[in-house]
Amino acid sequence: MTDAHVEPQWASRLRDIADFPKPGILFKDIMPLLADGDDFRAAIQAMSARWRDLRLDAVVGIESRGFILGAAMALELGVGFVPVRKPGKLPGKVLREEYTLEYRSDCIEVHADALPAGARVAIIDDVLATGGTLVAALSLVRRLGVDVVGAGVLVELDGLGGRGRWEAGLPLHTELVY
Ligand code: AMP
Repeated sequence: MTDAHVEPQWASRLRDIADFPKPGILFKDIMPLLADGDDFRAAIQAMSARWRDLRLDAVVGIESRGFILGAAMALELGVGFVPVRKPGKLPGKVLREEYTLEYRSDCIEVHADALPAGARVAIIDDVLATGGTLVAALSLVRRLGVDVVGAGVLVELDGLGGRGRWEAGLPLHTELVY
């Protein structure tokens, strides 16, 4: 018997929290997954496998859960890690990009000297919802002159239009779709 849609064992560690951070939002909580060593490692290995042969120079992680997944992936892949942060957190000269989230407007920043032009990077976050964050991160890091090879998220929330906002033809890997 084969079933291409069998979920990995670690998927059972994701938890739905209703009405967080505000009414109407079904929050996908990855904390129980992070708390289990074997399942956390399995999830990181699955996300990393997508990029293993693509000669990345760095993983770009989006604050804050993208830091956890992205930094673990960077170690797994043997490459560097660059944080994309909420405003006012990075100490050096920054580039800034504004965007709209599923539940609020915000902006993100990256150090202007974070990566050399031409560096090959993948952008990592935990959840793809409307796609606003990932698309903003794409335009932000491209202003550094880097080569964005694609993006990866653990969970894609289908029906919020995120994938449709992502650049056609640019890889967007998601491990689980709900
Ligand atoms: P979006 O820009 O709408 O794709 O939202 C993605 C960002 O917001 C990611 O950084 C997620 O961590 C967070 N996020 C948005 N919606 C959810 C959700 N339903 N559950 C968990 N995280 C979410």
